[in-house]
Parts: sequence; C-alpha cells; structure tokens
Amino acid sequence: MLLQHPIKIAFPYLSTLATFYLCAMRTSEDSYRHKGLRKKLVETIEQKGIHDRKVLEAINKIPRHFFLDSAFDEVAYEDKAFPIAEKQTISQPYTVAYQTQLLEIKPFMKVLEIGTGSAYQASILAELGAQVYTIERQKKLFESNKSFSYLKRYPNIKFFYGDGYEGLPTYAPFDRVLITAAAPDVPQKLVDQMKTGGMMVIPMGTGDVQDMKRITKMQDGNYKTEVFDRFSFVPMLGGKKE
Ligand code: SAH
Repeated sequence: MLLQHPIKIAFPYLSTLATFYLCAMRTSEDSYRHKGLRKKLVETIEQKGIHDRKVLEAINKIPRHFFLDSAFDEVAYEDKAFPIAEKQTISQPYTVAYQTQLLEIKPFMKVLEIGTGSAYQASILAELGAQVYTIERQKKLFESNKSFSYLKRYPNIKFFYGDGYEGLPTYAPFDRVLITAAAPDVPQKLVDQMKTGGMMVIPMGTGDVQDMKRITKMQDGNYKTEVFDRFSFVPMLGGKKE
C-alpha cells in the first residue's frame, strides 16, 4: 500500500491533491469477484436484520468499490464505514440499508438527503426510484461527485452545495428527509419542508453515538417520533466549507 500510494502518503496535508488523487484512483471495473463479495455483504446485512428486499437488491446492484479509492477495492465489501476525502466517511452498508429501510421509499417520492459525501446513499435512493435532492456542505466533496461518471446513470439525483440546515425551500415539500450526519436536535427548517404524512430519518445526539429517530408529520398536524438503534455518524455542522 505504501508503494502504491506515494503521493497520498507524502503529502497528506495537501487536501486538493488528495481529492484529485482520490478521483483519479477510482476503479470502474465490476468483476465477478466484486459481485461475489457484494452478494456476501447483502447476506451479512440481511442476517443483521435488514428485510426490505428492494433495499437489499439495491445494495446488491451498486458497486460500492466505485465510491472509494481503489486502495479499498476489496474491503469495500466489508460491512464497515471508510474514510473518503475531507475527513468524511462513507457510511457502513448496514447503516445505509437501515436508514433506507426506515424511509419506506416508493418510486417517484421526493427525498431530501443531507450529507452527500460519497453519493453512495444517494445512489441507493435513486436506485429505488426516488427523486433525490442531496446537499453537501464541503465544496471538494461536492466537486468530486461532478466528475464521477458512474453517477450519470442516475439523472434522478440533483446535487447541491450548501448548508443542509437550510434545506431546499425552492424544491419543498419533500416526502422524505434523510440526515446522514449526527444532528444535535431536529432542524426546524427541514421539518417545515416535509409534506404532511412525510417522514424524516435522523441520527440524533451530541456524543459519539446517536439514536436513530424517525419523525412522521401526521395529518392532524402533530408529530410522531420513533426511536430505533444506536449508530455513530460524523457531526452535522452549520455553514458551508470552501
Ligand atoms: N451519505 C454519505 C455519508 C455522509 S458522511 C455517503 O453515502 O457517503 C456525512 C456528510 O455530511 C459529510 O460529507 C459531511 O460533510 C456532510 N455534512 C455535515 N453537515 C452538513 C450540513 N449542514 N449540510 C450538508 N452536509 C453536511
């Protein structure tokens, strides 16, 4: 690994170069081996309790290794989170499946995602037929998805650079809101952008571990909050980053 990645090791502080390098080192070959590893991953997350067939099929279909530096080619199919550029992570496949299952996505639903990151989660939502609006606050991550050719197959994903706390009032209301970073509390502006009958899935908490919550906007104007398992996300931060 040291020999294969001299630039990254030598200049870890040059984040622009690191981002460029990350993009340059994406793999775009999906071999039988990758497909086999992916099938095993699907079995693993099914054993952990994911039962939604459509979610499992989407995980089985999307080459997760395309979303990572080619150094992670094999480990891409371990059920783990991995670093991407700008000190962010691609969520663990089980976590992606868990949040997606809670969202109960139907084709053509309008879904707002906060925290595009690698765009893996956005691709899973798009594969399920959703109209995805995804916001990323880090410009470099947003830019790197522009040149990621695999994403061209999902014209139903719209990418935005901005502060997720603001949501996208122009495109509201949304059937679903998915937050993929740890939020200290429920962002009111995002609740306001939900349809009646709509749901938000949000990892909530300020510590290392958060509660996965699902908030439903009821017909009578009240909110129903359900609390599920505990997960660990990077924090949801305010403002944009150049
Ligand atoms: N969904 C991603 C995982 C994201 S990790 C994937 O599939 O790979 C969380 C992401 O949320 C990071 O990229 C981080 O930069 C972003 N983020 C944190 N706070 C945000 C905010 N206020 N608005 C938009 N993005 C935010």
